[in-house]
Amino acid sequence: MKISELFKTKTVFSFEVFPPKPTSPESTVRDTLAQLKDLAPDFISVTYGACGKSGGEKTLDIASEVKHVHGIESAAHLPCIGRTKKDVLRFLDGAKQSGIDNILALRGDMPCAEADGNEMPCGDFAHASDLIGFIAEHSDFNIIAACYPEGHIESRSIVDDIKYLRQKTDAGASHLITQLFLDNSYFYTFRERAAIAGINAPIEAGIMPVTNKKQIERMVSMCGVTLPKKFVAMITRYEHNPEALRDAGIAYAVDQIVDLVTQGADGIHLYTMNNPYTARKIYEAVHRLFSAESTS
Ligand code: FAD
Repeated sequence: MKISELFKTKTVFSFEVFPPKPTSPESTVRDTLAQLKDLAPDFISVTYGACGKSGGEKTLDIASEVKHVHGIESAAHLPCIGRTKKDVLRFLDGAKQSGIDNILALRGDMPCAEADGNEMPCGDFAHASDLIGFIAEHSDFNIIAACYPEGHIESRSIVDDIKYLRQKTDAGASHLITQLFLDNSYFYTFRERAAIAGINAPIEAGIMPVTNKKQIERMVSMCGVTLPKKFVAMITRYEHNPEALRDAGIAYAVDQIVDLVTQGADGIHLYTMNNPYTARKIYEAVHRLFSAESTS
């Protein structure tokens, strides 16, 4: 099923998981899925690391399992940096064979040569909009794209960022998912700017429950997310008490979600980080907000 159809009838609630890394046990993501499947989210998306030379087989395997073993709609991420048109066509063919209907089309983060000891080869796509146009031209997948309430970290200005986002929807992206943010006011301002720019695709708010200090430090350096005062106070107070910090991080995410759904967000995409405990606690606190009756 094309995920874009879901937004016509409800506020969407989705999860994101990542496939096994070479250094982590195969079982982590499968345990996560086994523990979360009864929550029946509207869809689960599966990431694909931009670094490295894999053809995305693990992403497709997990996305296929989500759909065919667990009966939940899935989306496979596809970063294009360093990839050729041939690589992309091969991935799309694999996705089709696996019965996947939805692709989250991304540029990917800049190459980390040290990840596999080699420079990333030049690919055929400079920006996600190039990939989106290519997928739209060569297939009938439903295409999803990324967006950034505070602007993308490499972006010279918010105006440019919104201009390039419009190129992604014009090229064929039918729905957008945001990077994490910790202050909802960025999301509301971004949503208005997108509407003014004529971007009419549904925008799902990406929420990442922060449960340890290292995780947030990494996110800030990678994505440039602003840390609100109340968030910094929370981390500072509980950084040496992991269980309290985890509870506080869950409560913070729940508070963000309640506000977002109340203010009419099209959907919530929860970055589970393959942590079923956190995802379940959040789901249990908010799932009634997503029933069809609550949104009518
Ligand atoms: P783009 O849309 O290409 O934008 C990248 C930068 O280029 C921006 O600064 C933009 O303003 C600029 N730009 C865009 N078009 C043009 C143009 N025509 N001319 C000049 N500048 C332009 N990464 C992974 O590797 N794997 C994943 O699975 C993954 N999943 C993600 C899921 C979500 C929901 C999100 C929000 C991000 C995800 N990422 C993932 C991270 C993403 O790949 C990075 O944020 C990356 O740096 C940008 O990707 P993009 O698709 O937004 O790129």
